[in-house]
Amino acid sequence: MSQSISPPNTEFFSQLWEAQSGCCALCGGPMPQSRFAVAHASIWKRRRPTFDHIVPLAAGGPDNPDNLQLAHADCNKRKGRRQAGSDGRVAT
Ligand SMILES: [Zn+2]
Repeated sequence: MSQSISPPNTEFFSQLWEAQSGCCALCGGPMPQSRFAVAHASIWKRRRPTFDHIVPLAAGGPDNPDNLQLAHADCNKRKGRRQAGSDGRVAT
């Protein structure tokens, strides 16, 4: 496993957080900065900020900071599913 993009609390995370003013790059909504900013762990699980590849790795996007933005875990997942979409039913 070479997943070296660390979880939030890195300096890089703070940079992105400031650049995006704490808002999700996909839906534009505000993201909780920590588990303690939301009432419940299940909310945190879906709304927590995650690193999103702007150009997905699957589409040939580079695995470097220029290709990363912050997005809700949920939005990130939804995007991934949409772009991986050929799983099972292909439209054309
Ligand atoms: Zn979002």
